[in-house]
Amino acid sequence: MFSIWSKRGLGVVLLAFLMAGCGQKSDVTQPVETGVTGADIIAADEHPDAWLSHGRNYAEDRFSPLAQVTSDNVSDLGLAWSFDLGTSRGIEVTPIVHDGVMYVTGTWNVVHALDARTGEELWRYDPEVDRSRAAYMCCDVVNRGVAIWGDKIFTGTIDGRLIAIDAATGEEVWDVLTVDLSRPYSITGAPRIVKGKVIIGNGGAELGVRGYVTAYDAQTGEQAWRFYTVPGNPEDGFETSLMEEISSTWTGQWWVEGGGGTVWDSMAYDPDLDLFYIGVGNGSPWNHRRRSPEGGDNLFLSSIVALRPDTGEYVWHYQTTPAETWDYTATQHMILADLDIAGETRRVIMQAPKNGFFYILDAATGELLSAENFVPVNWATHIDMETGRPVEVDGARWNSDQPFIQLPGPLGAHNWHPMSYSHDTGLVYIPAQEAPWAYIDDPDYAYQAGVWNTGGDFFINALPSDAAMFKAVKSMMKGRLLAWDPVNQKQVWAVEHGGPWNGGVLSTAGGLVFQGTADAHFAAYDAATGDEKWKFFTQTGIVAAPITYELDGEQYVTVAAGWGGSFVLGYGGVFPTGSQAKVGKILTFKLEAEGKLQPLEVARAVNSVPKPITDDPAVISAGFIAYGTYCGICHGDHAYSSGLVPNLRYSSITTDETAWQSVVLGGALANAGMPGFSDYLSRQEAESIRAYVISEANSDRTETFYEEVSVTD
Ligand code: CA
Repeated sequence: MFSIWSKRGLGVVLLAFLMAGCGQKSDVTQPVETGVTGADIIAADEHPDAWLSHGRNYAEDRFSPLAQVTSDNVSDLGLAWSFDLGTSRGIEVTPIVHDGVMYVTGTWNVVHALDARTGEELWRYDPEVDRSRAAYMCCDVVNRGVAIWGDKIFTGTIDGRLIAIDAATGEEVWDVLTVDLSRPYSITGAPRIVKGKVIIGNGGAELGVRGYVTAYDAQTGEQAWRFYTVPGNPEDGFETSLMEEISSTWTGQWWVEGGGGTVWDSMAYDPDLDLFYIGVGNGSPWNHRRRSPEGGDNLFLSSIVALRPDTGEYVWHYQTTPAETWDYTATQHMILADLDIAGETRRVIMQAPKNGFFYILDAATGELLSAENFVPVNWATHIDMETGRPVEVDGARWNSDQPFIQLPGPLGAHNWHPMSYSHDTGLVYIPAQEAPWAYIDDPDYAYQAGVWNTGGDFFINALPSDAAMFKAVKSMMKGRLLAWDPVNQKQVWAVEHGGPWNGGVLSTAGGLVFQGTADAHFAAYDAATGDEKWKFFTQTGIVAAPITYELDGEQYVTVAAGWGGSFVLGYGGVFPTGSQAKVGKILTFKLEAEGKLQPLEVARAVNSVPKPITDDPAVISAGFIAYGTYCGICHGDHAYSSGLVPNLRYSSITTDETAWQSVVLGGALANAGMPGFSDYLSRQEAESIRAYVISEANSDRTETFYEEVSVTD
C-alpha cells in the first residue's frame, strides 16, 4: 500500500518552485555538483524517502506528508530495528536520511551511517574530541545531529570544530576550528546549509563567551562570513558599524564574561524572502544588573535575528526578552508558515521560547503579530503589542533580597526539544513544561573562569538546610504535550506527562503526533484530539525528536532514545530507575513489525554507604559550596546521580582519598570526560567536597522527581 500525500503540501512545493524561478536571490540550487541540493530540501515533500534537513525542510515544520501510519492502524506499529549507541549519556539527535542511509550522532560526536531499512552500521566516524571539554558543557555532552549537502555530511563537535565527511565512505574531507579554545565554547547544535554555505553557532553562555554564527564553504571549509550577536570590547574596535550601534544598548564591562548571546540550536531559512533566521541565547552572566549595571536592552540577546545567508548581513531583529536576566533564551525551535491572520495570508515565523510566550512575527519584517503565554507565567503579565515588550511584574528582576520563585525558570517553558506544525490541523505541537526557579542576586558576584557565571546565588535552589525550597520548586514541575492554535493563540488540547523534559515532536499527514517521554515511552497521539493511540516502552527516557521516511512502500518512524541533558544531569536522581545506563539507542518502527528490545538486566546495585570522614560542619559546608560550583551541574544536585555519570555517593573513588585526588585534581579520568580541576581547587577543597559527598550518602534525603517506572510495557 502506498502512502497518500497531502495535496496542499504538493501545492506549496509547486508554488515554491515557481517563486524560486522569479529571481536571482532564490537560486538555491547552486553550487552542488552531485547529491543533495537546496532545491531538494525546499521540496522535502517530494522526497518522502528522505529526511534531508534538521527540521525536515528549511521552514523547519517537522510535519511529514506520509500517511500510511494512521490513527486507525498505529496500534500495529512495531519495532523494525534498533541500533545500540553504547552510551549512558543524553541522545538529542534528529537523524538525517538520504538514499536509504540514516546518519546519526552519538556521544562524543561519533557519527554513524546506518542502513535505514535494517539498522546495520555502514560506517562510523570518530572525530576524537577532547573529552576534557565536557567541563565546558552546560548541559551534557550532547549533539543534535548532522547536515547533508552534495555528497558530504557535516557535523559540529564539543571541542568547537566543524567537520565535513564523505557520505559514502565516512572519510573526513575537511575539519575547521570555529572557536577560540581559550574560552569555554562548545557546539551541540546541528549545522544548516543554505546555498552551499554551512552555518554553525556555538554554546557556552553559562560559563562566559561571546556568541556568533559562522558560515563556511561546504566544498572547502573556507570561512565565508561571521555574525556576532553581541558587541565586543570597544577598545578592540568594533567589527562593523552594526556592532557599534548595538553597543549603545550595553553598559559596564560585558566583554569580560563575553556577554553571551550564543546561537546554540535553532535556525531557519525562507528561500522566497532569502532570509536566514537565528535564535539568540541568554546573557552572560544571567543577572542583568551584574552584566550591564547601568541598564540597556543588550542586543541581540534573546532575539530572533534575520540575516542574508550569502553575506551574514543584518536585516531585522525582534527581542523577546529585553534586558534578559533569567536565562530566557530565544534559541528555541522556529517554524516558518503561511497563516491566515485577520483575513490576510501572512508569511510568519513562530517561536515558543523559554520565557513562556508564543510569538508570531512577520517573516519579512519582524513585525510582532501576536504573543500569548502558552503555560502559566508569573514574571510578566502580557506582551505590550505597541512596544513589543513584556510587561514585567515587580520583584521578578533580581531586585529583592528575597528569592523570587519564577515560572518559567532557566529550563524554560519550552527548551530545545523541537515542536511540529501540522499543515493539516493548523496546530503547533509543543513539548511544554512548567519548571520554576528561585532567582536571587549575588551582590559579591565576580567573574570566575571555568565555572557557571550567573551573577546570582545558585545555591538558593539547592540549600541542604532549606529542603522546603527544593520541595516547593519540585512540586511545581510539570510537563505536557501541548496542541496550540497559533492563529487564535490558544490551547486546543494537552496531554499531561509525569514531569518535565520530554522529547521533541513529529506530526504527520496520517493524523498523528509522535513524542517520546522522560519516563521511557514512545507514543502516538491523535493530532486532532490528543487521544493516545499507541505506546512503546523504550527502556530509557527520550528527549530527541522523531522523524519518518518511506522506503519500498513502507513508512518508517525513528526516534533516538537516551535520557540526558541539563535537567537530568543537574537535578540528579531523575533517571527513571526502571531503565538503565548504556541503553542509548536508535529505534525504528513500521507497521506489522514485531521486533523486541533485549530485556534489561534489572539487578539493582546494593550501595554500601561510606563511613563519614568528618562531622565538622564547616568542612561539609565548604564542600557543599565547592561541589555546587564545580561538580553539581554534571554529578547532580545534592550529589544525586542521574545515572548518566558515576554516582559519587557510592563510588569506590570517593572512599579512597588518593584516588579521589588523582581524579579530581590530577585528571586521571580526563579521557572519560572528567577533567582535572587543579586550576580551580586546592587539595583541601577537593577533600572538603569528598567530605560533603559522603555526608550526602549518609543523609536520608530521598527526594526525586520521578518515581520508579515499570521495566516492562
Ligand atoms: Ca543558557
